Amino acid sequence: MQPIDLLAIAAHPDDVELACAGTMLLAKRSGRRTGIVDLTRAELSTRGTLETRARETEDATKILKLDYRANLGMPDGNIELSRENLLKVVRELRTTRPTILLIPSKHERHPDHEAAAELAHRASFYAGLVNMETKDADGNLQEPYRPRMVLHYMQSYTFEPTVIVDITPVFEDRLRAMQAFGSQFHQAADTGQKETFLSHAHFFDWLKARASAYGMRIGVQYAEPFWSHEPPGTQDLFSLVTKTIA
Ligand SMILES: [Zn+2]
Repeated sequence: MQPIDLLAIAAHPDDVELACAGTMLLAKRSGRRTGIVDLTRAELSTRGTLETRARETEDATKILKLDYRANLGMPDGNIELSRENLLKVVRELRTTRPTILLIPSKHERHPDHEAAAELAHRASFYAGLVNMETKDADGNLQEPYRPRMVLHYMQSYTFEPTVIVDITPVFEDRLRAMQAFGSQFHQAADTGQKETFLSHAHFFDWLKARASAYGMRIGVQYAEPFWSHEPPGTQDLFSLVTKTIA
């Protein structure tokens, strides 16, 4: 398999679409290969069924033009930091060989997001160890591999970002990718389903406002924030200038 340049790992299908789909779209636009690995099928969701979720995930995958999407089938609400789960993620990283890996933040409202962040972060290190053995689908021993950069994306809780990405050029498609998960969001007609944080009538306004607020920080219309342990480097200082007025 050809490497996936930008890979995002998430607890639930729709997490990446809500948090950092703009960055995925931008990478695709510049010719990179992109992918998402969902750890669970979100079977504990208050709204929608497994079938609607699967269909919505397919629609969002098309909008994002992903080269790769996998689901590791871990139980929703119980993402354990077990050796079995760790090896599952290590196997994915060695198969996809991403240059940049996007994972959730370790401090999050939803415990599954925190668990996914910890699991993915550990796997991103262990995947580079020769003696942590994994086999591919054909039973062949996999080569060790470590992503060059790991960035945490923002979900419920905020943090002071290490890097902010201008997603203005792809913002309309970013909204479409989120809206693909229609069952999770507010619907004009009352469907009789229980209201959740996501289905609140103002949820899209909040997300737009956040993209706008981080856009303001770097002088653009819309942006997505990321945090990393290591500061990102550059070989071109001018590529860091996003403001058109000082
Ligand atoms: Zn989630």
